[in-house]
Amino acid sequence: MEETIEKITQDLIAAAKRFYEARFQLGNGGNLSARYPGKEWMIVKGTDVAFSEVSEKTLVITDFNGALVSGSIKPSKEALLHGALYRRLPDVQAIMHCHSPWATGWAASGKPLEFATYHSKLKLKGEVPVFDSGTYAVPEDFFPTILAHFDRYPEARAFLLKGHGQLAVGKNVWDAAYNAELVEETAQIGVISVLMGTHT
Ligand SMILES: [Zn+2]
Repeated sequence: MEETIEKITQDLIAAAKRFYEARFQLGNGGNLSARYPGKEWMIVKGTDVAFSEVSEKTLVITDFNGALVSGSIKPSKEALLHGALYRRLPDVQAIMHCHSPWATGWAASGKPLEFATYHSKLKLKGEVPVFDSGTYAVPEDFFPTILAHFDRYPEARAFLLKGHGQLAVGKNVWDAAYNAELVEETAQIGVISVLMGTHT
């Protein structure tokens, strides 16, 4: 059964709060979104809104080009990338993007995330690569590079952005949030493994 807009909105608010409290996204960076049921629209965080401030008032509705459909503030600068992902990946219902420290630290290596646990290998599928878009927000001309990754690994659930953060997708808000948490956990274990000299 398709989820209601009310349920999706409450899940986005709760997931944002959880990520702020877990210190996966401090300040007013990061972004999260979900498909609007039955339309080529998404519900997305407004620009410069902290994850701790996500509410019915600071979420907006846009089309997949980031044009405002409903809401009183501008959408996050990264809404365009979310729209491009929804357009290309019909199974993706929600996206979590954050600057979580372990994943972002791992991204500095430029190497795909090492699947340090059986759980990460099972859930994250394919590969979690590192992209270097060279800017603080992924520019549109970089989208084809990211979309090509999902063409290659249709079940891929996440990628890292060098000097920036991570993005995870899911079949609903919590699935995307848990994938992002798994990326963060896996990166932390990966860094510890490297420091102990025990990684493969
Ligand atoms: Zn970001």
